[in-house]
Amino acid sequence: MQCSLEMSAFKAADGDCILLQCRSENRSYKVLVDGGRGSTLSPLRSFFRDMAADDRRIDLFVVSHIDSDHIAGAISIAGDPELAPMVQEIWFNGPQHLFGDGNRALSIAEGDELIRLIGRNGWAWNKSFQGKAAMRRAEASTLLPAGADGPSLRLLGPYPEALRELGSRWTGKLPTAADRPTAPGVIAMGGGDESLNVLTLAGQRYAADGSVVNATSIAFVLRYGGRSVAICADSHAETLERSIDEDFQGKLNVDIATLPHHGSSANMSVALSGRLQAKHWIVSTDGGRGAAKKPNGSSIARILMSRRPSVGHLNFVFNSDHAAAKLWDNEKARADFNYSVRYAAATDDRIAIFLT
Ligand SMILES: [Zn+2]
Repeated sequence: MQCSLEMSAFKAADGDCILLQCRSENRSYKVLVDGGRGSTLSPLRSFFRDMAADDRRIDLFVVSHIDSDHIAGAISIAGDPELAPMVQEIWFNGPQHLFGDGNRALSIAEGDELIRLIGRNGWAWNKSFQGKAAMRRAEASTLLPAGADGPSLRLLGPYPEALRELGSRWTGKLPTAADRPTAPGVIAMGGGDESLNVLTLAGQRYAADGSVVNATSIAFVLRYGGRSVAICADSHAETLERSIDEDFQGKLNVDIATLPHHGSSANMSVALSGRLQAKHWIVSTDGGRGAAKKPNGSSIARILMSRRPSVGHLNFVFNSDHAAAKLWDNEKARADFNYSVRYAAATDDRIAIFLT
């Protein structure tokens, strides 16, 4: 059977809005991951309007975690009369999944809003997990939400401890960026003509992401028709290292992976770059709102330096051509380290990778 897998990274400001389309002769299966900040609503509407009427469905909508650069746009989608009816199932961990059944005392404003809309839309919520948390379990297994002919999904995160930790630390408001530790050694990347020292970048000091919210990211591997994608969301590197060790003997090879946490230096350790190997890397960010722009050079440099020979040429696909992204369009570095770069065109809403 002829199958194809197309992965699109919509321009989602500093966040993620990723669409996976699995197609065979008989049917398609679509997974939408996150909604960015909300500016993705109009491009998503246009995208689905261009599809055949019977293809306008989102089989699975994954809202990876409650940070605004992922959930704000998800709320817009959930409230949209055109897109909301397309959703067949949502994966999202709400307060009851953080605190255990019956404890709803604490509130996450954006999480609560999404939950209200899930109820209004009547979406099947975490159905693949019998309504319980979308998280790794001792009996972790491959999920087949579309049956044997559809894609298979396996969770890489979160672990139950991360959901518990967020619950125990919750104080009624979202931790802001200012509450989180910033990684020392983070450097702001300048203009595209700045010299690029991959070796120095790869060797920069690594300080792990301390965000309890990022640790709750739903991350997964999707396989379809012999192709595979790793959606890393804003997972801690240590979470991914652990699940790759547990499920893949320390080596996960996929066709496409998303650069964790928009390329933050705190989410791509040397240990993870050795364990997770992909031919194509999606980099979803417009540079971000902080002074230290994303992607941080160290995360891409570590991937280049940790590549196994069998992977060969690497391809970095950016949904924005801001300075920290354009920095990698460096002829000498591309030749020395055997990689290519692609950027979303100014006139396009998204950038896609198509695998057959
Ligand atoms: Zn994010």
